[in-house]
Amino acid sequence: MSPHPRLSAIRNQLHQNPPARVVLALGELFPLDEKQLREQWRELVAGTPLADLALTVRILPAQQQCMVCFLKYHPQKKETACPQCGSVGAKILSGEELYLESF
Ligand SMILES: [Zn+2]
Repeated sequence: MSPHPRLSAIRNQLHQNPPARVVLALGELFPLDEKQLREQWRELVAGTPLADLALTVRILPAQQQCMVCFLKYHPQKKETACPQCGSVGAKILSGEELYLESF
């Protein structure tokens, strides 16, 4: 499995001047969960100066808004059905992020 392009971009950004620690913000709805993210990171940085970096992952909760009744809710287990009206037409407000939070 090839690493996610956004993770590769973060690696490239840190490569020039490797910090001792970083915090990555990871949205709940991002295609990788924390375990997969850490596995891909390990493969990406193996044998490089970034291999010793302390990686902290902060999970960002997801929020969706129903397009029918406009309820804002936290999707359970990536389910998209609205808990109030059952509609599946929801807009994702947050939870798809992956970014470097601090270093
Ligand atoms: Zn609804």
